[in-house]
Amino acid sequence: MAFIDWLHAQPRAPLGHLPTPLEMLPRLSDELGGPRIWVKRDDCTGLATGGNKTRKLEYLLGRALEEGYRRILTFGAVQSNHARQTAAACARLGLECHLLLSRRVPWSHPGYEKGANVLFDRLCGAEVTIVDPHEVDSAFKRLREQLGGPDEVCVVPAGGSTAVGALGYVQCAEEVATQSEALDVHFARMYHASASAGTQAGLVAGFATLEQATQVIGVNVFHPQAQTLKDRVAALLAGVQERFDPGSSAGAVTIEHGYLGEGYGLPNAAQLEAMALAARLEGLIFDPVYSGKALHALVDQIALGRLADQQDVLLLHSGGTSVWGVYENAFEAVR
Ligand SMILES: *Cc1c(COP(=O)(O)O)cnc(C)c1O
Repeated sequence: MAFIDWLHAQPRAPLGHLPTPLEMLPRLSDELGGPRIWVKRDDCTGLATGGNKTRKLEYLLGRALEEGYRRILTFGAVQSNHARQTAAACARLGLECHLLLSRRVPWSHPGYEKGANVLFDRLCGAEVTIVDPHEVDSAFKRLREQLGGPDEVCVVPAGGSTAVGALGYVQCAEEVATQSEALDVHFARMYHASASAGTQAGLVAGFATLEQATQVIGVNVFHPQAQTLKDRVAALLAGVQERFDPGSSAGAVTIEHGYLGEGYGLPNAAQLEAMALAARLEGLIFDPVYSGKALHALVDQIALGRLADQQDVLLLHSGGTSVWGVYENAFEAVR
């Protein structure tokens, strides 16, 4: 418990509508005939269409402000949700925001470099630089020279996944523990989309420190090799524990690797079908890059009978729906 007290004393810029709701999906659960499906609605964090980066940014930017930074530089793919959330958070906090975005996703849409998240980045006043993947290093060097040294620019890694950013998901685990106790449900498993690993590391550290027997299952939506993601989660987890919770027992890192499809940012037909089912039965919209793949994993695992022994199961809706503006061609593109 000491870890949680310590967590609450950390610098934090309040940005999100927290706690987010935890709700049941009765019609989808009935349709699938498996456990009751519950969703932690982190798509409802309230910051410029919401998402999981809000929680990380509360700690990342809270600390940046305390350290006296006025200027933030971060990275992502062109349609990065992390970039959009950072742009909005910086607007709220009066910080200057620079985004270095890379054309790493071979998704073809006429608005890909202007619409959806990129539009919101610019609306929120961020300076946006878009480059090819091999140009990121040189563009970063150039921006660094332009914007000033490490004292002047707070550089936030892609996805906001540092030990500090991961604290946002330690806090989410605490919310889930409180909410599930109030609802009198027990979650033996929680599924979520995993990419830069901060969400998973935070959740695993959080449930471990709270002594909650909830297995966190990170659905890999980014790394061609599952082991790369596993190593990243483990490294971040070690970072959180070393710095903030020494002596704690490490939680297990579980990766579900069967739902990446052709790669990061590329939806597939089975995934879109699962997403359409959730929309038709629950009016709930998932995103094609992240949360839709986590939903697909859960729906498929239930269909395969792998969750037959579970009464309740939890899915994190991590946001990302703002990207649909440049994915409306998905249904034609993958069929
Ligand atoms: C970034 C992101 C994730 C993955 O979170 P990580 O901490 O990077 O693993 C999941 N869903 C959405 C919508 C995201 O934008």
